[in-house]
Amino acid sequence: MKLSQIQNTIETLPGLGPAKAKLFARLNIFTIGDLLSTYPKSYEDRTKKIPLCQFQLHPKVYTICKVTGHDWFGYGRMKTLKIQITDGTANAFLIAFNRAFLQKSLPVGSIVRVSGKFEERYGQLQSSAFDTEVLAQEGTLEDFSSPSLLSTGMVPVYPLTEGLTQKIYHKAVSTALKLYGKSIEDELPPSVIQERKLLSKSETLFKIHQGSTPEDIKKARESIIYEELFLFEYKLAKSALDHRGRLPALDLIAPGEKNGVQALTALGEDSSQEENEEQLDEKFRLSLSPHQQDLLSRLPFSLTPDQKRVILDLNRDVDRSQGEANTMITAPEKLSHNPFSMQRLLQGDVGSGKTLVAFFLCLRVIDYGGQCAILAPTELLAKQHAENAARMLEVLGIKVAFLTGNLKSKGRDNLLNALKDGFINIVIGTHALFSQNVCYKKLQLAVIDEQHRFGVAQRESIVQKGRISSGSLTHSPDLLMMSATPIPQTLALTVFGDLDVSVIKSMPEGRKPIKTYLSVMGHEANAYEAVRKELKAGHQAYFVYPRIGEDEEEAESENSSHNQEKGSSDLKSAEEMFAFLSGQVYPEYKCALIHSKVTEEEQSQILEDFRTGKIQILVATTVVEVGVDVANANCMVIEHADRFGLAALHQLRGRVGRSSLQSYCFLIYSKSISQTGKDRLMALHESTDGFRIAEEDLKLRGPGEVSGTLQSGYLSLGLADLIRDKECLKIARYDAFNYIRAKYQL
Ligand code: ADP
Ligand code: MG
Repeated sequence: MKLSQIQNTIETLPGLGPAKAKLFARLNIFTIGDLLSTYPKSYEDRTKKIPLCQFQLHPKVYTICKVTGHDWFGYGRMKTLKIQITDGTANAFLIAFNRAFLQKSLPVGSIVRVSGKFEERYGQLQSSAFDTEVLAQEGTLEDFSSPSLLSTGMVPVYPLTEGLTQKIYHKAVSTALKLYGKSIEDELPPSVIQERKLLSKSETLFKIHQGSTPEDIKKARESIIYEELFLFEYKLAKSALDHRGRLPALDLIAPGEKNGVQALTALGEDSSQEENEEQLDEKFRLSLSPHQQDLLSRLPFSLTPDQKRVILDLNRDVDRSQGEANTMITAPEKLSHNPFSMQRLLQGDVGSGKTLVAFFLCLRVIDYGGQCAILAPTELLAKQHAENAARMLEVLGIKVAFLTGNLKSKGRDNLLNALKDGFINIVIGTHALFSQNVCYKKLQLAVIDEQHRFGVAQRESIVQKGRISSGSLTHSPDLLMMSATPIPQTLALTVFGDLDVSVIKSMPEGRKPIKTYLSVMGHEANAYEAVRKELKAGHQAYFVYPRIGEDEEEAESENSSHNQEKGSSDLKSAEEMFAFLSGQVYPEYKCALIHSKVTEEEQSQILEDFRTGKIQILVATTVVEVGVDVANANCMVIEHADRFGLAALHQLRGRVGRSSLQSYCFLIYSKSISQTGKDRLMALHESTDGFRIAEEDLKLRGPGEVSGTLQSGYLSLGLADLIRDKECLKIARYDAFNYIRAKYQL
């Protein structure tokens, strides 16, 4: 029987009546399966000596002592026995509250094993929480110095509730193991257990509950963690198979990152052949469609290897999607499930060049005769994408349109008609793209930039505009979701479950890492002076504030819950600082103010002027957080940095460092910053790698809190931790997928 199938209640265990069962029930332990799958929260290691003299270095002392004297203090019922002991490294006293009987069982001269928490009190080393076991009534410490006398194994410590003791708990577990332990079957396939050198389930349970060495317990934990992750990945893959007729991509490993491969090699896998850059380039060029080739030949720079790898992924997806959609129309009997369409998340750090990759993808879809929609969360960003697309793609003969919410009716009608008739190849816009009256001739690709800003329903409402059916089969347009908000990859897998994930890690060549400086409020002037040097050299700067004006709440900061105790009136605002910076600090430079209350036209104009260098200083709120791409801007000053979330700070900093210029980021924090707040800023200071920062954020905040998208329930694994055990996760995923592939003959 499998552990989860043992439904007998614990009351059926000999020696465990209804009263005790009630205590276990409070810990959500009802069945014997529950009991055995609730693991110790820690162990007391009674395999190694911890002498009295090291009482400060360890939570507990564990040693062999000689009793050297008895003494009493207090009167009447309070009379308490004090037992003097020594283990040769120090003298100490056991204070035996309510344990007068120890006078007889621990006579002077006896040799005892002692485990306990010791403290220095009144100039003496004392313990009142101790366990003892007599080894001999008399003898010398030398006679009892053999390590084997000391080693009594690992004592498990279980979570308790009032009335339940470790002793009762241990008894219940050992009875359950005796009765059921040997017959418990494995959850994992035998081939996997053998290949990964795991323990059988039965052995695992004996070791996790009754292991006698730290190694036993480590091995048992590893087996349990692996099993949890394998079953997790199995479920995920199975659900993808059921819903989409295929497995998600196996490869969690970022291009260029060899860790995963190494981990597999360590477990006896062949290391896969890394292709070299020439081979990659050759493969890449051969895969391009006519318009893709055309764009490549016009680029003033070369693509990064990661960009090429991702484009290869995308091309493969599009080809398959187009192929199966075609089969659906011409020979539906050949398909046993809905035709494939791309569902891919592209994660790439800020500035890694995702937009260009999306353009390449659009061109391939267009070469197949489809239309594309690119969706962005803000007008500012949509406009910028539209301008880039117009600049780069119209020369190739591609028709690009920008659809904004406030386009006047006549122009809008013309545009919508052109879209419906198929004269427009790519439409770019914000939420306006969802509106009902937006129709396409042949929408075959939706690109969603900064995808975390859109809900599932919105994603669906754009995709359904291009869905086609034939008989009982349906084909959806390909979907590419892009995000620079770094979600640790391991979590991306759980949150986005069965999506394929591509990652761009490398930055375009020649980029210098941004230099980040932390500084406490009161010393802003240093930052201002550093910025002045850059302005003198002809460069540009951003200044970012958590609120718009005097009477504003922190409307534009995502993480406005931080530091609520501090009145928001102490906060510098963008308006106030615009006046100060332009009037007093940098009167010789042209400054502009931009925030969500500035009209869209004005925002566009300001950004245009910033891009063309008419404006040197942009004072802003977090409206500039995403997308803004001005290569000549190399300074980012963020005041009240402790008010922003780590992800937002990383995005803001990503506005600079977009050329070969050395860029700078100044994070100015308030004096009242908390330790966690400081740790978070330090994480930014230490790294510019969004993924590292995201992992750090996760550690500081805990998985439940990260990026709102994550439900803590998602991560309710037992011993496994998706972050800590990510290497194991990769292996388990690999194995689970292979197992499913074999089982369903994929
Ligand atoms: P993000 O991934 O943050 O969306 P963008 O797509 O905005 O990044 O790209 C940042 C900038 O880098 C853009 O100006 C883009 O034109 C430029 N860029 C993209 N790819 C390369 C490359 N391979 N070499 C040089 N510059 C590049
Ligand atoms: Mg972008």
